[in-house]
Amino acid sequence: MRTEEKEEGEEEQWRSVHEVLLIVLPYLHSLFELLSMTRVSRSFRDAIRDETALWTNVVVEPPLSSRLTDETLWDITSKSAGKLKTLVLRQCLRVTDKGLRRVVDANPLIRKIIVPGCTELTPEGIMGCVESLTKNNHNVETLHINGVHGFTKHHLSSLSNYLPQKGAIDVEVCPKCEEVMMIPDCSRRSCNHKQTSERKCRGCRFCVPRCVECSVCLGPDTEIQEAACGGDVLCLECWLVLPKCRFCNKPYCTSHSSLRHEIAGTDAASRPMFECQACYYRAGTNPYDAFDYQI
Ligand SMILES: [Zn+2]
Ligand SMILES: [Zn+2]
Ligand SMILES: [Zn+2]
Ligand SMILES: [Zn+2]
Ligand SMILES: [Zn+2]
Repeated sequence: MRTEEKEEGEEEQWRSVHEVLLIVLPYLHSLFELLSMTRVSRSFRDAIRDETALWTNVVVEPPLSSRLTDETLWDITSKSAGKLKTLVLRQCLRVTDKGLRRVVDANPLIRKIIVPGCTELTPEGIMGCVESLTKNNHNVETLHINGVHGFTKHHLSSLSNYLPQKGAIDVEVCPKCEEVMMIPDCSRRSCNHKQTSERKCRGCRFCVPRCVECSVCLGPDTEIQEAACGGDVLCLECWLVLPKCRFCNKPYCTSHSSLRHEIAGTDAASRPMFECQACYYRAGTNPYDAFDYQI
């Protein structure tokens, strides 16, 4: 594309960049992708910078999250010229209440604030933002705050006055421990049978053990299988199908499968094997175990 652009006149070049932008625009998901696109060419970078429509949804996820400060957040969101609609900040540990508020005050059209795991934010800071946004009959549709510490049921009940729609806020008060937590759905048919009465297994992950694979609740009359990932539990059906550690026979759940220490088989036809981390270190297959620390 670069050599083609050089051959074209400047105006034509500008137009073609815009045409391409319009095509890729719906596919750009996160800030990371957007910033990667700016490296394609100088004209591309300028076009992206000046296209306010591209900046109305700002999504910052790992790996960029850890580098996002209040200042950079302000710079990025300013590009929307006050038209920011969606702000997604996942695990942005450096963004503070002050930084978020500054963005909210400059962007009264925000409808979605998704800030899970932004541990520098506080309930008071977030409530202030929601209050300010809803002042002039403007609706905030979505608020995700899982992993922001300190929310109480009192905070939550005042927040639900501003966001009354069901499911607008990602956390709820656990009916069992009364803490503000995510309440997972249950995949067990019989639990979701009665639409009217509240399902019995409704509760946070600490109150109701749940299979990490299929999210079925694991009550006292169901068999709970331990996964190798420590803390995660599985139902028997999911346990049966997952590959298991060759020593302790515990499987990793799918999201922790990268923790497996794969063992090369003796011949190509043999089944792939692995050791869980605990067994790997205990069994002494770790090369550091052979190291003699004695002086
Ligand atoms: Zn609970
Ligand atoms: Zn399961
Ligand atoms: Zn259930
Ligand atoms: Zn093991
Ligand atoms: Zn796991």
